[in-house]
Amino acid sequence: MKQANDLRQLLLQIDHKSYPAYKDTRGSYRFPGYILNIDHVQGDPFASPSKVSIAVSGKTAGFPADTYDAPHKRIALPDHILRLFARSLERYSFKARGSGKSGLIGVSRCGQEILERTACQMDPENGDLLIRMEIGFPADGRRIKSGELIKILFDYLPECIPKNLFYKNLDARRVRQVRDLSEDQHYIRQQLGVRKLTAFVADGTILPRESGVSARPMKNAVPFVSPDSLKITLDLPNHGPITGMAIPQGITLIVGGGYHGKSTLLKALELGVYDHIAGDGREYVATDVTAVKIRAEDGRSIKKTDISMFINNLPNDRDTRSFSTEDASGSTSQAANVIEAMEAATRLFLIDEDTCATNFMVRDDLMQRVVHRDQEPITPFIERVRQIYQEQGISSIIVAGSSGSYFHVADTILQMDQYRPVDITALAKREAKAFPLTCEGAPKAAPPGTSRCPRPSPAFRKNDRIKMKTMGKDAFSINKETVDLRYVEQLVDSEQTTALAYLLKYMELHCFDGRTPLTKIIPTLSAQLLEKGLASINEGSYLSSNLAMPRPQEIYACIDRYRGLVL
Ligand code: ADP
Ligand code: MG
Repeated sequence: MKQANDLRQLLLQIDHKSYPAYKDTRGSYRFPGYILNIDHVQGDPFASPSKVSIAVSGKTAGFPADTYDAPHKRIALPDHILRLFARSLERYSFKARGSGKSGLIGVSRCGQEILERTACQMDPENGDLLIRMEIGFPADGRRIKSGELIKILFDYLPECIPKNLFYKNLDARRVRQVRDLSEDQHYIRQQLGVRKLTAFVADGTILPRESGVSARPMKNAVPFVSPDSLKITLDLPNHGPITGMAIPQGITLIVGGGYHGKSTLLKALELGVYDHIAGDGREYVATDVTAVKIRAEDGRSIKKTDISMFINNLPNDRDTRSFSTEDASGSTSQAANVIEAMEAATRLFLIDEDTCATNFMVRDDLMQRVVHRDQEPITPFIERVRQIYQEQGISSIIVAGSSGSYFHVADTILQMDQYRPVDITALAKREAKAFPLTCEGAPKAAPPGTSRCPRPSPAFRKNDRIKMKTMGKDAFSINKETVDLRYVEQLVDSEQTTALAYLLKYMELHCFDGRTPLTKIIPTLSAQLLEKGLASINEGSYLSSNLAMPRPQEIYACIDRYRGLVL
């Protein structure tokens, strides 16, 4: 293998040459304690930056085996290392100077959630570490400024790498805390299954966030306290006993006056499918990992989806057993979201009235009397929620502050009172008896037919260069087709969105064959991702440094919103 000094010599030789001479630096170089790989060199100083990776052998990195001997720990530890490394490199970005992206040092920025990322991965067998990053190779106009790159590769990186990637230089207590928290979080998730719960929220949790644009915990918030009736104690392996609210399977209703914290609780449950970092305030909140937020999403497209459980006899005689539209209404979009979440094997719906189509959720008595069932295409969710739980085992947690109808169908009723949940199940049930529902009850519906088998889109002919672009967390475009994921609320990181674009391309090229249903394609792909990671869908010569793992539910959500899907 080439040595660091070979790289230095090469760089000195190409100084002031025209930019493409940088291409010769591609390759691997041995530095003290690590190998620097120059995986891809950008075409000019304004193009997207060059891809560089750093390999540290497990022996040199030296992390104790018990910090990475389980899949959840191999997500938590690299997440921690990446945060340290990114913080330490931050002050060096653009310190080397030049035109365009010259001097940029790009390392993934992690948010509150702990995600598996291609930016830092750890080998399960021997603890080898691989960090992927981007560097803008410096130039003056189109003339190479290799002295500036030498600063980055021979000063900045050698300064930051041992400091953040070698266990012996890290705060061992912090590393242990990361491991301990990961074990505890994993234990809580296991307990959800064992105890047949949909979610757990520990006492003392800080639910609200600093602001609408900051996911950090609110200062001086009212800490969460479980109502006695739902309080359980879990004996976490490291933290020891912890009390909190256990939400059972079934139908749970969250009511309460406006501004009493209903949506804030639901939001925490939505994000409880992910683990959170220490200090977040939601470290010990865990929701069934398959939970899906259901909301109205007018304007979305729907492709051959069986929404007949909720919508029938549309005025234009459209077939709702295989319903398609380019511009869904509030109720049809919400119906499609429910059906698609079932297809994505969810075990829990999370619903907030703030983002629902009212006519999808309820129909009051007076309206039923005036507009007869035969004239109303919609069977509201309230008439299906119990059947869905009984027949398919899918629970629901529903925030409903304005309609008492759900009292009749709920198993557990919580009232948020000044940010504290109170169990009012008995009281609410008693009151509900005095207001019987007069609806006749909808006839049972067959579960949706789910056998959509996408065909490969002609837009993805193999070997063609496929253009992809991520627009933050909210959307990506692929071959000029934009996939709008704004309302897929459990997508938390733009790197997940980028990964979805890669996954979509992968499925178009390798999985869509007109015969295999999505319900086979996506579980197979998810199993592959679980076992081999995002590297297994890599098509190019190097793996992108900025991909984070989405859940299978978001892969479905992405395909369901992809207008280019050929069925
Ligand atoms: P609701 O859905 O019941 O109308 P929200 O959940 O939207 O209420 O909360 C209303 C406001 O109260 C929000 O600004 C939220 O940040 C704040 N809030 C929520 N929970 C707490 C808490 N535990 N402590 C302090 N403020 C909170
Ligand atoms: Mg609300």
